[in-house]
Amino acid sequence: MQYYPPLLVRLIKHLSRLPGIGEKTATRLALHILRWDCEEVRSLANSMIEAKEKVALCSTCFGLADTDPCSLCRNPNRDQTLLCIVEQPSDLAALEQSGAFNGLYHVLHGTISPLNGVGPEDLKIQELVVRVADGRIRELVVATNTNVEGEATASYLFDLMKPYPVTVTRIASGVPVGSDLKYLDGVTIKRAMERRQNLGSA
Ligand SMILES: [Zn+2]
Repeated sequence: MQYYPPLLVRLIKHLSRLPGIGEKTATRLALHILRWDCEEVRSLANSMIEAKEKVALCSTCFGLADTDPCSLCRNPNRDQTLLCIVEQPSDLAALEQSGAFNGLYHVLHGTISPLNGVGPEDLKIQELVVRVADGRIRELVVATNTNVEGEATASYLFDLMKPYPVTVTRIASGVPVGSDLKYLDGVTIKRAMERRQNLGSA
């Protein structure tokens, strides 16, 4: 990198701050950007600035949005009685892309993790209670990840919601579609066996 002009070195250093981008990749990206015409580079820079300035958290669901409330929260065609709880905006995006859910969302921005010093007060849980207390939500679908923290958060939410007239459900977990039983870990197989479904009985 010491053979490059200082302005290029500065760009490489900025790019290498991105996750998963080491110095080699950053150099390759920077050299690639230099081959673009000025208009393309300006458009890239502008889209970064505009996204940073205009994308914020929706004050209702805490998903990422460039309007407040976001388009999902404002959509009257979505089931207003069904609320899916996810850890991160990326989980919301994944669920939306799957087309599997047509209710509303609530993004916690993490999971309860005492080992990492994250308690319920560090997440958007108080805000969730306010939404549920409103009385319109009938079912909470807890779609936190199926690791230890995700499960602990799900059971915390289950206890927390006991005083409210709302059903708390958990997304199913088990054998992933297209996978081979012999390659799965014991916990996954055990969970799949516990949550087996009836395919019809005689
Ligand atoms: Zn929203």
